[in-house]
Amino acid sequence: MKDLLLVTDLDHTLVGDRPALARLNKTLETLRSRIALVYATGRSLAGARQLQQEEHLLEPDGWATGVGSTLLWRGQPDPLWDTMLGKHWHRPALKALLSHWSDLAMQPASEQTPYKLSYELTRPRQGKEAREFENHLRACLGQAGLQAQVVFSSGCQLDLLPPAAGKGPVTAHLQQKLGLRPDQVLCCGDSGNDRSMLAGPWWGLMVSNARPELVDWWQQARPDTLVRSHHPYAGAISHGLETLPLL
Ligand SMILES: [Mg+2]
Repeated sequence: MKDLLLVTDLDHTLVGDRPALARLNKTLETLRSRIALVYATGRSLAGARQLQQEEHLLEPDGWATGVGSTLLWRGQPDPLWDTMLGKHWHRPALKALLSHWSDLAMQPASEQTPYKLSYELTRPRQGKEAREFENHLRACLGQAGLQAQVVFSSGCQLDLLPPAAGKGPVTAHLQQKLGLRPDQVLCCGDSGNDRSMLAGPWWGLMVSNARPELVDWWQQARPDTLVRSHHPYAGAISHGLETLPLL
Protein backbone atom coordinates (compact mmCIF):
# COMPACT_ATOMS: atom_id res chain seq x y z
CA MET A 1 0.00 0.00 0.00
CA LYS A 2 1.37 3.39 -1.03
CA ASP A 3 0.85 6.65 0.88
CA LEU A 4 1.35 8.99 -2.06
CA LEU A 5 0.91 9.01 -5.82
CA LEU A 6 3.44 11.45 -7.28
CA VAL A 7 2.78 12.25 -10.94
CA THR A 8 5.30 14.55 -12.60
CA ASP A 9 5.86 15.96 -16.05
CA LEU A 10 9.43 15.49 -17.33
CA ASP A 11 10.69 18.31 -19.60
CA HIS A 12 11.07 21.63 -17.70
CA THR A 13 9.48 20.15 -14.55
CA LEU A 14 11.45 17.17 -13.23
CA VAL A 15 14.24 17.82 -15.73
CA GLY A 16 16.05 21.14 -16.07
CA ASP A 17 18.21 21.54 -12.94
CA ARG A 18 20.58 18.60 -12.42
CA PRO A 19 21.73 19.36 -8.83
CA ALA A 20 18.09 19.85 -7.74
CA LEU A 21 17.11 16.60 -9.48
CA ALA A 22 19.93 14.70 -7.74
CA ARG A 23 18.67 15.99 -4.35
CA LEU A 24 15.08 15.04 -5.17
CA ASN A 25 16.15 11.56 -6.33
CA LYS A 26 17.85 11.00 -2.96
CA THR A 27 14.69 12.00 -1.10
CA LEU A 28 12.53 9.79 -3.31
CA GLU A 29 14.86 6.83 -2.82
CA THR A 30 14.48 7.05 0.96
CA LEU A 31 10.68 7.27 0.59
CA ARG A 32 10.48 4.77 -2.27
CA SER A 33 8.35 2.16 -0.48
CA ARG A 34 5.69 4.78 0.33
CA ILE A 35 5.49 6.60 -3.02
CA ALA A 36 4.08 5.46 -6.36
CA LEU A 37 6.09 7.47 -8.89
CA VAL A 38 4.65 8.21 -12.34
CA TYR A 39 6.16 10.17 -15.23
CA ALA A 40 3.49 11.92 -17.31
CA THR A 41 4.89 13.33 -20.53
CA GLY A 42 4.08 14.33 -24.09
CA ARG A 43 7.03 12.22 -25.20
CA SER A 44 6.72 8.74 -26.63
CA LEU A 45 7.86 5.90 -24.35
CA ALA A 46 11.12 5.58 -26.34
CA GLY A 47 11.78 9.33 -26.06
CA ALA A 48 10.98 9.31 -22.35
CA ARG A 49 13.28 6.34 -21.70
CA GLN A 50 16.06 8.10 -23.58
CA LEU A 51 15.62 11.14 -21.32
CA GLN A 52 15.63 8.81 -18.30
CA GLN A 53 19.09 7.55 -19.31
CA GLU A 54 20.49 10.97 -20.16
CA GLU A 55 19.27 12.61 -16.96
CA HIS A 56 19.55 9.67 -14.54
CA LEU A 57 15.86 9.56 -13.68
CA LEU A 58 14.70 6.93 -11.19
CA GLU A 59 12.76 3.97 -12.54
CA PRO A 60 9.10 4.92 -12.00
CA ASP A 61 6.12 2.68 -11.20
CA GLY A 62 4.26 4.09 -14.19
CA TRP A 63 4.92 5.74 -17.53
CA ALA A 64 2.04 7.86 -18.82
CA THR A 65 3.38 8.83 -22.24
CA GLY A 66 1.98 10.54 -25.34
CA VAL A 67 0.11 13.15 -23.24
CA GLY A 68 -1.62 10.48 -21.16
CA SER A 69 -2.59 8.30 -24.12
CA THR A 70 -0.44 5.28 -23.15
CA LEU A 71 0.00 3.82 -19.69
CA LEU A 72 2.64 1.32 -18.73
CA TRP A 73 2.29 0.20 -15.12
CA ARG A 74 5.21 -1.71 -13.61
CA GLY A 75 6.24 -2.77 -17.10
CA GLN A 76 2.79 -3.93 -18.24
CA PRO A 77 -0.02 -2.30 -20.22
CA ASP A 78 -3.13 -1.54 -18.16
CA PRO A 79 -6.08 -3.29 -19.88
CA LEU A 80 -8.72 -1.25 -18.03
CA TRP A 81 -7.11 2.01 -19.11
CA ASP A 82 -6.93 0.79 -22.72
CA THR A 83 -10.64 -0.11 -22.63
CA MET A 84 -11.45 3.40 -21.39
CA LEU A 85 -9.36 4.96 -24.16
CA GLY A 86 -11.05 2.85 -26.83
CA LYS A 87 -14.46 4.45 -26.18
CA HIS A 88 -15.51 6.77 -29.04
CA TRP A 89 -12.03 6.47 -30.60
CA HIS A 90 -12.01 5.75 -34.33
CA ARG A 91 -8.38 6.15 -35.35
CA PRO A 92 -8.62 4.82 -38.95
CA ALA A 93 -11.57 7.12 -39.71
CA LEU A 94 -9.72 10.13 -38.28
CA LYS A 95 -6.63 9.26 -40.28
CA ALA A 96 -8.67 8.91 -43.49
CA LEU A 97 -10.38 12.26 -42.90
CA LEU A 98 -7.09 14.11 -42.35
CA SER A 99 -5.31 12.44 -45.27
CA HIS A 100 -6.96 15.10 -47.48
CA TRP A 101 -5.39 17.97 -45.53
CA SER A 102 -2.40 19.13 -47.57
CA ASP A 103 -0.95 21.23 -44.73
CA LEU A 104 -0.68 18.25 -42.36
CA ALA A 105 2.17 15.73 -42.52
CA MET A 106 2.12 12.61 -40.39
CA GLN A 107 4.85 12.41 -37.76
CA PRO A 108 7.19 9.37 -37.96
CA ALA A 109 5.89 5.93 -36.97
CA SER A 110 7.89 6.13 -33.71
CA GLU A 111 5.54 8.93 -32.54
CA GLN A 112 2.29 7.12 -33.45
CA THR A 113 0.49 4.84 -31.00
CA PRO A 114 -2.88 3.05 -31.09
CA TYR A 115 -4.33 5.91 -29.02
CA LYS A 116 -2.51 8.89 -30.53
CA LEU A 117 -2.48 10.26 -34.05
CA SER A 118 0.30 12.81 -34.53
CA TYR A 119 0.93 15.34 -37.29
CA GLU A 120 3.17 18.24 -38.10
CA LEU A 121 1.91 21.37 -39.78
CA THR A 122 3.78 22.05 -43.00
CA ARG A 123 3.38 25.76 -42.21
CA PRO A 124 3.57 26.67 -38.49
CA ARG A 125 0.80 28.84 -37.09
CA GLN A 126 0.83 31.06 -34.02
CA GLY A 127 -1.72 33.02 -32.00
CA LYS A 128 -4.97 33.83 -33.80
CA GLU A 129 -4.05 31.77 -36.86
CA ALA A 130 -3.37 28.74 -34.67
CA ARG A 131 -6.72 29.13 -32.90
CA GLU A 132 -8.53 29.43 -36.24
CA PHE A 133 -6.82 26.31 -37.55
CA GLU A 134 -7.77 24.42 -34.39
CA ASN A 135 -11.39 25.59 -34.59
CA HIS A 136 -11.64 24.61 -38.25
CA LEU A 137 -10.25 21.17 -37.43
CA ARG A 138 -12.71 20.71 -34.56
CA ALA A 139 -15.60 21.74 -36.83
CA CYS A 140 -14.53 19.20 -39.48
CA LEU A 141 -14.34 16.43 -36.88
CA GLY A 142 -17.78 17.40 -35.63
CA GLN A 143 -19.26 17.33 -39.14
CA ALA A 144 -17.79 13.87 -39.70
CA GLY A 145 -19.27 12.69 -36.38
CA LEU A 146 -15.81 11.88 -34.98
CA GLN A 147 -14.63 12.57 -31.45
CA ALA A 148 -11.05 13.40 -30.48
CA GLN A 149 -9.14 15.78 -28.28
CA VAL A 150 -7.10 18.22 -30.34
CA VAL A 151 -3.77 19.09 -28.72
CA PHE A 152 -1.89 21.77 -30.61
CA SER A 153 1.57 22.69 -29.38
CA SER A 154 4.49 24.92 -30.33
CA GLY A 155 2.57 26.14 -33.38
CA CYS A 156 3.49 23.13 -35.46
CA GLN A 157 2.63 19.89 -33.65
CA LEU A 158 -0.81 18.42 -33.64
CA ASP A 159 -1.92 15.40 -31.63
CA LEU A 160 -5.34 13.80 -31.78
CA LEU A 161 -6.16 11.80 -28.67
CA PRO A 162 -9.14 9.70 -27.53
CA PRO A 163 -11.80 11.68 -25.64
CA ALA A 164 -10.84 9.80 -22.43
CA ALA A 165 -7.06 10.43 -22.65
CA GLY A 166 -4.95 13.08 -20.92
CA LYS A 167 -2.68 13.57 -17.95
CA GLY A 168 -5.63 14.43 -15.66
CA PRO A 169 -7.72 11.37 -16.60
CA VAL A 170 -4.73 9.00 -16.28
CA THR A 171 -4.04 10.43 -12.80
CA ALA A 172 -7.67 9.88 -11.79
CA HIS A 173 -7.45 6.28 -13.07
CA LEU A 174 -4.27 5.61 -11.07
CA GLN A 175 -5.67 7.22 -7.92
CA GLN A 176 -8.60 4.83 -8.11
CA LYS A 177 -6.41 1.85 -9.00
CA LEU A 178 -4.22 2.49 -5.94
CA GLY A 179 -7.19 3.21 -3.65
CA LEU A 180 -5.87 6.61 -2.57
CA ARG A 181 -7.72 9.75 -1.47
CA PRO A 182 -7.29 12.94 -3.54
CA ASP A 183 -5.13 14.45 -0.76
CA GLN A 184 -2.69 11.56 -1.26
CA VAL A 185 -1.97 12.63 -4.84
CA LEU A 186 0.51 15.29 -6.02
CA CYS A 187 0.86 16.36 -9.68
CA CYS A 188 3.65 18.63 -10.92
CA GLY A 189 3.94 20.46 -14.23
CA ASP A 190 5.02 23.51 -16.22
CA SER A 191 2.98 23.83 -19.42
CA GLY A 192 -0.41 23.76 -21.14
CA ASN A 193 -0.59 20.00 -21.51
CA ASP A 194 -0.21 19.64 -17.70
CA ARG A 195 -3.36 21.66 -17.07
CA SER A 196 -5.78 18.74 -16.85
CA MET A 197 -3.75 17.12 -14.06
CA LEU A 198 -3.07 20.40 -12.24
CA ALA A 199 -6.80 21.16 -12.22
CA GLY A 200 -7.73 17.86 -10.54
CA PRO A 201 -9.22 17.47 -7.05
CA TRP A 202 -5.78 16.51 -5.67
CA TRP A 203 -2.64 18.59 -4.90
CA GLY A 204 -1.09 20.37 -7.86
CA LEU A 205 2.25 22.08 -8.05
CA MET A 206 3.33 24.53 -10.72
CA VAL A 207 7.08 25.11 -11.03
CA SER A 208 8.27 28.75 -10.91
CA ASN A 209 9.49 28.40 -14.50
CA ALA A 210 5.98 27.52 -15.75
CA ARG A 211 5.14 28.64 -19.28
CA PRO A 212 2.95 31.75 -19.83
CA GLU A 213 -0.07 29.73 -21.06
CA LEU A 214 -0.18 27.84 -17.75
CA VAL A 215 0.37 30.96 -15.62
CA ASP A 216 -2.44 32.74 -17.54
CA TRP A 217 -4.81 29.86 -16.82
CA TRP A 218 -3.76 29.73 -13.14
CA GLN A 219 -4.38 33.47 -12.73
CA GLN A 220 -7.95 32.98 -13.92
CA ALA A 221 -8.84 29.62 -12.36
CA ARG A 222 -6.75 29.63 -9.13
CA PRO A 223 -7.81 26.18 -7.91
CA ASP A 224 -7.17 26.19 -4.14
CA THR A 225 -5.36 22.85 -4.28
CA LEU A 226 -2.79 24.22 -6.76
CA VAL A 227 0.45 25.70 -5.44
CA ARG A 228 2.57 28.05 -7.51
CA SER A 229 6.06 27.27 -6.29
CA HIS A 230 8.82 29.86 -5.94
CA HIS A 231 11.28 27.14 -6.87
CA PRO A 232 12.10 25.99 -10.41
CA TYR A 233 12.21 22.43 -11.81
CA ALA A 234 12.85 19.51 -9.40
CA GLY A 235 13.52 21.95 -6.54
CA ALA A 236 9.79 22.77 -6.57
CA ILE A 237 8.90 19.09 -6.13
CA SER A 238 11.33 18.72 -3.19
CA HIS A 239 9.88 21.84 -1.56
CA GLY A 240 6.34 20.54 -2.15
CA LEU A 241 7.15 17.21 -0.50
CA GLU A 242 8.60 19.06 2.51
CA THR A 243 5.83 21.61 2.97
CA LEU A 244 2.53 20.09 1.81
CA PRO A 245 0.64 17.81 4.23
CA LEU A 246 1.42 14.67 2.22
CA LEU A 247 3.52 12.12 4.09
MG1 LIG B 1 6.90 20.14 -19.49
